[in-house]
Amino acid sequence: MAEVKLVGVWKKFGDFAAVKDMNLEVKDGEFMILLGPSGCGKTTTLRMISGLEEPTLGKIYIGEKLVADPENGVFIPPKDRDIAMVFQSYALYPHMTVYDNIAFPLKLRKLPKQEINQRVKEVAELLGLTELLKRKPRELSGGQRQRVALGRAIVRKPRVFLMDEPLSNLDAKLRVRMRAELKKLQKQLGVTTIYVTHDQVEAMTMGDRIAVISHGILQQVGTPEEVYDNPKNTFVAGFIGSPPMNFMDATITEEGFADFGEFRLKLLPDQIGVLRNEGLIGKEVVFGIRPEDIYDAMFAQVKVPGENMTRAVVDIIENLGSEKIVHLRVGNMTFLGAFRSESKVQEGHEIDVVFDMNKAHIFDKTSGKAVF
Ligand code: ATP
Repeated sequence: MAEVKLVGVWKKFGDFAAVKDMNLEVKDGEFMILLGPSGCGKTTTLRMISGLEEPTLGKIYIGEKLVADPENGVFIPPKDRDIAMVFQSYALYPHMTVYDNIAFPLKLRKLPKQEINQRVKEVAELLGLTELLKRKPRELSGGQRQRVALGRAIVRKPRVFLMDEPLSNLDAKLRVRMRAELKKLQKQLGVTTIYVTHDQVEAMTMGDRIAVISHGILQQVGTPEEVYDNPKNTFVAGFIGSPPMNFMDATITEEGFADFGEFRLKLLPDQIGVLRNEGLIGKEVVFGIRPEDIYDAMFAQVKVPGENMTRAVVDIIENLGSEKIVHLRVGNMTFLGAFRSESKVQEGHEIDVVFDMNKAHIFDKTSGKAVF
């Protein structure tokens, strides 16, 4: 049973469709990430789930309850949807203490004082805010303020949390810490969470599943592993992973090579079988491979000259300490390799590079859809 369900949901602003035919099911207790570039429609989707925005068409369910269905005149306002929202700007009340900020939604609901007190204390304990309950927001760090904002959402024990880039105002180090804290907290509470971000690292590290959106269209929904290892199209393949996947135009030869003009790579028998079935022998395709699946030949396990190797010029090396991002060039073709830090490559030198063909992807040149 889905906890949140969108069926054929559209949102139009005038002629512009910000969200197009969105179908998405979020499971009970799941941490679902809506991921995509700026303007792709993720905030609009979240706002429709919250009730801050009404869909133009389609149905939205929270639990078994139909909360939006414009065709049948159904629209449940945000306050009756049993959701809590956390935004990028914490929107704390500056004149209130941490205690009063967290207690606020319970006071609005006119809960008995004693129950309010107990729930605020529980939440403060959970979030490590017990010592700070008497402080005002301006006396807190960014991370502490964000925790108070979370506390205010948690204290209501909602059915669903909706979060819109809640960590993006924090500095890089704090963001990494809060990422882990938030994920742990979500599992502890077991509350279904829908979390909007444009940061693929945040998505990969926090999400049980990721819904990748581009231009208002849902591209793929899957676990972090699924979207990383088996992207459904070039958009997902290019958006997830840093540095991004290399895309190279190729022709598939009769003998089962991906021919780039400058050099060629032998595909594996299974891959050739799939390409043959799809009628792609002799056709132009897009070959995709992640930088970490290209090796300095010195460190490669399986080297077959003429099949999975080529000579390449090292143009630039970005040393990240743990690895080296190496800009490689063969003739006019350029691509990136992520080499282990022990690699002794030098800028301007020629080296042998090896491709892990098990990790190769092929995409349709016109539609961008993955063949594998
Ligand atoms: P960001 O990460 O920049 O917040 P987003 O993916 O959350 O991006 P949305 O805020 O959902 O994007 O916006 C999707 C598209 O809809 C954008 O092109 C935006 O300009 C447009 N849009 C959003 N709200 C409105 C509105 N009220 N009126 C007109 N256009 C809107």
